[in-house]
Amino acid sequence: MSSFKFEVLHTSSKSRARVGRIHTPHGIIDTPNFVAVGTNGTVKALDNEMVSSIGLQLMFCNTYHLLLQPGPEVIEKGGGIHRFVNRNMPIITDSGGFQVFSLAYGSVADELKSKGTKKQGGSVVKITDDGVHFRSYRDGRSILLTPEISVATQKAIGADIIIPFDELPPYHISDQELKKSLHRTHAWEKRSLEAHLKDPRDQAMYAVIHGGVDNSLRKKSCDFLRKLPFNGFAIGGSIGKNKRQMVSMLSSLLPKLPIEAPNHLLGIADLKSLEACVPLGIDTFDSSYPTKAARHGTLLTSTGGIKITRGRHSGEFEPIEKGCSCYTCRNYSKAYIHHLFKANELTSMTLASIHNLYFMVEFMKSFRNHILKNKL
Ligand SMILES: [Zn+2]
Repeated sequence: MSSFKFEVLHTSSKSRARVGRIHTPHGIIDTPNFVAVGTNGTVKALDNEMVSSIGLQLMFCNTYHLLLQPGPEVIEKGGGIHRFVNRNMPIITDSGGFQVFSLAYGSVADELKSKGTKKQGGSVVKITDDGVHFRSYRDGRSILLTPEISVATQKAIGADIIIPFDELPPYHISDQELKKSLHRTHAWEKRSLEAHLKDPRDQAMYAVIHGGVDNSLRKKSCDFLRKLPFNGFAIGGSIGKNKRQMVSMLSSLLPKLPIEAPNHLLGIADLKSLEACVPLGIDTFDSSYPTKAARHGTLLTSTGGIKITRGRHSGEFEPIEKGCSCYTCRNYSKAYIHHLFKANELTSMTLASIHNLYFMVEFMKSFRNHILKNKL
């Protein structure tokens, strides 16, 4: 029997926001929640003991990267991802599709800037109905990724939640091509689910809803995928070129998702998006934004981000935020962290990342408290 279970504890009387609990073989994820990105089995600049002690209940690892380095066989030999990376809390892996297609088309952001010109030198060699042939950026070897291979790789890695193989179409695509891509994605997701159900290993699988910003295609995707026995629903693909478009698409999509299953918004968790999306009923969000910002010296506080490298912080001997009980704020001053950044010390990134992730944990906790009081 599967350990995976989702329970809704409270739905706000004011919005679709809800507080819930996802049960996995490695513990509970309180929702709504922020998901830390640990691409290679580690959140950049931190080790997993620290990530767990900050209270990050779910970590997102990338199959594409782990497939190329160290390879699924090493992780499997090492006792599976939890043991290999020393994390005794829930982990989710993606299918590898996102990175393969991002490399071919450029990221959605790059693409919007370049007005949809296909990135030259992309590493995808061929896309067929069977899967994708691409070249490893590490050593140039040719790799085939199909729904079955993606699932087998995610079995070897052994995360608590896995994702079916999907196609990430570029944002600038004709309606005809988007429809074709959706059709292929659905076929790939179905094949992925079938491969998963042959050997479930106490893993849960979330479907990925596609359809870009076309509400009727999103509905079609939802209708198709919710008929299949997926454990949850992730929202992927192009979600719009600005926040307004994203909120509009999600407002139309969320009521179509089954309320008894958890949902996840892929790749978005900046503070403004969280404020806009939690009331729509999104349960989990992953993003590398808080750690990327930290490594560039931007620290999150309740009154906005501060750029710690600015000169005025050199003489501030108080913590980043008064009252913050993170490891960094308990032990170090802004002046010291400013100095570490100025001196290019690697510790600067560690201390900044700890604070920003702790901020996210507390930020999500306050959402849950507000929902429980029907204030949101
Ligand atoms: Zn702090």
